[in-house]
Amino acid sequence: MKQSIGDFTQDELRDVIKPAFRVKQIWQWMYHKYAIDFSHMKNLPKELATFLEERYTICPLEIVTAQESVDGSIKYLFRLDDGHTIEAVLLLMRDEQYHQDGTLKHHKRYTICLSSQVGCKVGCAFCLTAKGGFVRNLTPSEIVYQVLMIKKINAIDANRRVNIVYMGMGEPLDNLDNVAKAIKILSDPDGMSISASRQTISTSGLSAKIAKLGSMQLGVNLAISLHAVDDALREKLMPINKAYNIESIIHAVKDFPINERKRVMFEYLVIKDINDDIASAKKLLKLLDGIKAKVNLIYFNPYDGTLFQRPSKKSMESFQEYLTKRGLLCTIRESKGLDISAACGQLREQYLE
Ligand code: SAH
Ligand code: SF4
Repeated sequence: MKQSIGDFTQDELRDVIKPAFRVKQIWQWMYHKYAIDFSHMKNLPKELATFLEERYTICPLEIVTAQESVDGSIKYLFRLDDGHTIEAVLLLMRDEQYHQDGTLKHHKRYTICLSSQVGCKVGCAFCLTAKGGFVRNLTPSEIVYQVLMIKKINAIDANRRVNIVYMGMGEPLDNLDNVAKAIKILSDPDGMSISASRQTISTSGLSAKIAKLGSMQLGVNLAISLHAVDDALREKLMPINKAYNIESIIHAVKDFPINERKRVMFEYLVIKDINDDIASAKKLLKLLDGIKAKVNLIYFNPYDGTLFQRPSKKSMESFQEYLTKRGLLCTIRESKGLDISAACGQLREQYLE
């Protein structure tokens, strides 16, 4: 099967495509003009277009369906070449704002949430993606083209800034090589130019891979899905904790190179009567002592068949207040796209039924 040209960095393509300036032209067609057909690349010599067509495909996925939320976020289901499906979400973080005279003050601000694998090996008890087991890693182009297709479909200009979070389906650090390559391709100034400092990897806490990611010096941000403050509970919720316990994660985070102006994000999925008590907030505060951290509390988003429940607004707010009053930055994640079931795996599940 032909490989997508989106799997390669510019350096890699320059080894195959001569003269080198043609690579930049091809990239401009792909990443600035969103061309998904070599024959549309008008300034390429015919022989080169034919050579490319014989050797590569471009876009490795197609859109199956989209669901728009009342808050303006849109969730996409994509089908890959081998028929498997993955989800990605365009999150509208801030709408357009205008001055009184009607001129534009701020553009819309977007974050795109990407999948890194079909399924996931980690098997967290609360996660729908885990239910279907692990199928396979995504290739670099399958990661990159989630962003590109979402920008193309929504006519988001190539130079309009977007943020990227690897918080869709899959564990990004379990597919580190391909994710790292996607980060490089996405951040290339000749391509989509989404600098690594605008990209955040979310991990269930594969401590050894956090260390490896740090040593790669990509400049990417880190988010840890912590969800529990003692090992016994965390093991129940996230079996990966048997291999990498909380202490090992904290250790890896302390060694991780972060930009001076950034913080490591700790995601804490709040589940009613499981981890929503103030004693947990107290332990969390202690655990994060000495780390430049921010905490993001997430409402558990229920789905058919789960025994876990969404916490009350009151317990979320008390938890947050406990931390903020003691100087730990803590936000409650707005339940963006709740009406379209934004938590990973849920659109796919509906579609498979
Ligand atoms: N595997 C990585 C990244 C993908 S999961 C990780 O676990 O960090 C992204 C986020 O979705 C995680 O923080 C996870 O806790 C959250 N999530 C999973 N199931 C959820 C649900 N039912 N409701 C709300 N958030 C959920
Ligand atoms: Fe995998 Fe993340 Fe879901 Fe856990 S929460 S099963 S690590 S996708």
